Amino acid sequence: MLSPAEFVERHRPSGGRRSGKRDVIVSVFLEQQGHLSAEQLADLVRARDPRISRATIYRTLQWMIDAGIARRVDFGGGNFRFEHAYRHPRHFHLICKQCRQSIEFLSSDIEALIEEVAVVRRFRPDESVIQIYGTCEHCAAGRPAEPPAVPLDAVFARDALRVAIATERSGLTFYARAARLARDSRGRDVFRRLADEEKEHLAKLEARYRELIAQDPRLESQPAFLFFKGASEGLFAAGAEELTRKGVTDREALLIGIRCERASHRFFQRYGERFEESEGKRVFLEFAAEEREHRDLLVREYRDLMARQRQRAPRGRRPADRARSGPRGKRPA
Ligand SMILES: [Zn+2]
Ligand SMILES: [Zn+2]
Repeated sequence: MLSPAEFVERHRPSGGRRSGKRDVIVSVFLEQQGHLSAEQLADLVRARDPRISRATIYRTLQWMIDAGIARRVDFGGGNFRFEHAYRHPRHFHLICKQCRQSIEFLSSDIEALIEEVAVVRRFRPDESVIQIYGTCEHCAAGRPAEPPAVPLDAVFARDALRVAIATERSGLTFYARAARLARDSRGRDVFRRLADEEKEHLAKLEARYRELIAQDPRLESQPAFLFFKGASEGLFAAGAEELTRKGVTDREALLIGIRCERASHRFFQRYGERFEESEGKRVFLEFAAEEREHRDLLVREYRDLMARQRQRAPRGRRPADRARSGPRGKRPA
């Protein structure tokens, strides 16, 4: 995990001078959670060091925005708030027009939609900002909002682990079913091995989850931050469903597994790369690497199986399951 100083160093533009005042302003800013107005930041900084002028603070805030340390969020009605990017993943906002509080969230479904539109319109998006204005549950109920109990970073890690655990569970179902259905004894062994591996990974992820919750038991009940609606566990669930079709051959089962692992790897890699440095990012990238290993293992098995079938098949005849019109005849790349 980067320290705040390392984080700033990484974002400092080359040739950017260091200055004592700027360091004070940056470190006060990074200590804050949530969203601050420029005035609030100035008050906090001047409480620490009254010799720093407001003009210097506003200039430094702009410098932080340009350097990617700070993000500017439009809270509506000419209100701008600032949040830092340190251990704070990029996100979308629900903004209450009454109390001016915001609720942060992420959604792979929204991002997938933005990407789809951009591709169709051949648009290269740099940044997507989603602000939804309305009334929060506290204002609607007429009781004041409490500040968030737990840092967003921890909620993000919790949600990343939940997504990974759900994916691992559905992967386990998939491989257990594939092992039951496999006819080729070697194919069966591969699926069993993968089922065992998924079980082991699942246990590790669950232990990590319990550890995280133990650090702060309030975490368990925090509202969701990541909305990854069945994004990846859905892949394996659909795959497991396909396996129940009558007459699925070992070759087809392997292809389904490869497809699921590849899509799962891409999903975790793609989102993991987008997140800012955080525990949640690490969960995603580590999981992506595991999914890639599974994919590679299945691709190797697929090639072996094809070679074995070619040897067994009499000259001039194709292996039995090839002759049948399988749903997807494509070889894995
Ligand atoms: Zn409100
Ligand atoms: Zn925010």
